[in-house]
Amino acid sequence: MLTRTAMSLGVLCVFAPAPQSPSTHTAADAAYARIMARATQAVQSELEGSTRIWDDHSTWDKAWEIESKHFRIRTTQPWAYGTKLGDGLDQMVAIMQQHGLELNLNGSAKGRVLLYPSIEEYNKHGNSNNADEHSTLYGSYFGARESERPVVGVVNPSGTLVWMQITHSVTHQLLHRAYPGQTRPPWIEEGLASYFALHWNWPWGAEELRRFQKEGNWVPVYNLLRRPVSRYGTQAHQYWIELGMLFSYLINYRADTKCTKDANGNKTGPFLDYLRDALAGKNVATHPLHAKLFEDTKVLEDGFKSNKW
Ligand SMILES: [Zn+2]
Repeated sequence: MLTRTAMSLGVLCVFAPAPQSPSTHTAADAAYARIMARATQAVQSELEGSTRIWDDHSTWDKAWEIESKHFRIRTTQPWAYGTKLGDGLDQMVAIMQQHGLELNLNGSAKGRVLLYPSIEEYNKHGNSNNADEHSTLYGSYFGARESERPVVGVVNPSGTLVWMQITHSVTHQLLHRAYPGQTRPPWIEEGLASYFALHWNWPWGAEELRRFQKEGNWVPVYNLLRRPVSRYGTQAHQYWIELGMLFSYLINYRADTKCTKDANGNKTGPFLDYLRDALAGKNVATHPLHAKLFEDTKVLEDGFKSNKW
């Protein structure tokens, strides 16, 4: 049952979404700037070339249907907003592929995204489609059991937060499409979703980690690796942020697990190898990294907590 009345993530993001790379901001920023320039041009052509802006798209039954390379978005937000969101999500797909995730999107239908204008309409959709518990913890969810398998979200005054929530759910949607019928350990499923969501604002993720420690709200890494989403409880926000940042620590910072990057931005490294094996359904219990995660958890936690972001 879905009964949200407010967002779980209180936040301080400004609306200037540009996905960031923890190791180099420059390449991602430049790519994003190019996309934004193209989007702005497209908006201009749209405004000049038709009277579509005068149509009424302010209610859900008349909402915009906007297509990007990989997504089909329904929204009552301005057309330019939906276009930017689509371009941003397309860029996120490219970033996922640079991490070696085999998403097999060629030829498959575009990912459906429904961005509702109000919490009431979002709840109504969730209730009539038996949305699972994940959605009661978050402002967005992936409806694996719905016919369109949509990502369902709701507009929020904090713009970047919406992009983070949608990106989190889109990661679930992409994994579902890429590995149909397979499930993954919760920490890998949620860790990947949160890791890609945090690409919109890494400094905020690091700031949240410091806040959890200061306020005594820190979730031990032991629990991050073992608990299912149903046990996240009132600390769901902490679980998601910590898992996403833990993935960044293992992919981008820790000496014996981090990746290297080739000229095209493609990444390889021990933790990414481990993730790819896990996604492919291989038994990772014998992978050299497994013991470092599940047995040397104290070492992992100490390094994670003291990392210089
Ligand atoms: Zn999730």
